[in-house]
Amino acid sequence: MIDFVFTLDYEIYGNGAGTLKELVYEPGEQLKEIFRKWDARFVAFVEVAEFERIEACGADPSMDLVKRQIQSFHEDGFEIALHLHPQWCNARYEKGRWWPDYSEYNLCTLPRTRITEIVERSLDYLRYVVGQSDFTPLSFRAGNWLFQPTKTAASIMAEKGIKVDSSVFKGGLQHNHGLDYRPALKNDYYWPFRDDVNEPDATGPWIEVPIYTEMVPPWRMSTRKRLSFGNKFSIAGGNAQRRLNRIRDFLRFQYPLKLDFCRMTLDELTAMMGRLIREDRERPDVYRPLVAIGHTKDLIDPGTVDAFLGFLRTNAIPVSTFETIYPKLLPVKDRTASVR
Ligand SMILES: [Zn+2]
Repeated sequence: MIDFVFTLDYEIYGNGAGTLKELVYEPGEQLKEIFRKWDARFVAFVEVAEFERIEACGADPSMDLVKRQIQSFHEDGFEIALHLHPQWCNARYEKGRWWPDYSEYNLCTLPRTRITEIVERSLDYLRYVVGQSDFTPLSFRAGNWLFQPTKTAASIMAEKGIKVDSSVFKGGLQHNHGLDYRPALKNDYYWPFRDDVNEPDATGPWIEVPIYTEMVPPWRMSTRKRLSFGNKFSIAGGNAQRRLNRIRDFLRFQYPLKLDFCRMTLDELTAMMGRLIREDRERPDVYRPLVAIGHTKDLIDPGTVDAFLGFLRTNAIPVSTFETIYPKLLPVKDRTASVR
């Protein structure tokens, strides 16, 4: 059985470029309307660190619109989840431009006390934005997908009540940041974990539901649509070692193509889903939560999202959130325990 989960990274660019209205609010409104039309909901991964700093510095006149939009998502059954780019926590705003603190790019490599501080501050801000003092998000996605090394950050967030992670994309590799999700290729559609997000651990407090990927040859990574997003696969820029590392990432026979509803064409989306639907018909007993990713800043083609939701409806694929599928992700014994 398939449950389809749309996740939306709700944010501007990591270096602070762009306006909230264009990169967050307007695409957010477009998506909300499309999803409501199909009576479907997505998971909004709200990048709180940037919003907190933008509000504190009075750096963007649309901050109130964004806060109201997050509240309207919450009231309307969209799932509000935690997304964190910690380089924003100490970001400075000078003469109309942002200076993020790249020494804090990866939450997981920071000292325990600093991780705790950032997580608590982020949860407080999310509660304030949602307008509910006892709100705790169920789900988390790390900035730049970096949930490695997992142990310390995962233990701190589990203590705060966060239970689902969707940072992994199987087959992912970034030498510059120590990201390596190749070991997860051997895993199922989802798995419990504790100390290492790549390693299933039945005793762990977390469940990983990775962003769905397919390993493809290099030529399939560069459609005209994806190339229009610019430097994501570029190997230019940075110092010699960083360039070399990006070339090493690049020299692979196969790459993980993320199921991305903003960057893939409708033909690609339906072809990928068609293969998964066929597999599901052969083995309907396997539970397959499929996570798609999109970014507000990447929504250049809302018509594709609308048509893809139509395709899922035609094929009777339910569109869900982590909140609605969570009981199905638990081992059977815990499911009955939580019902009691
Ligand atoms: Zn992000």
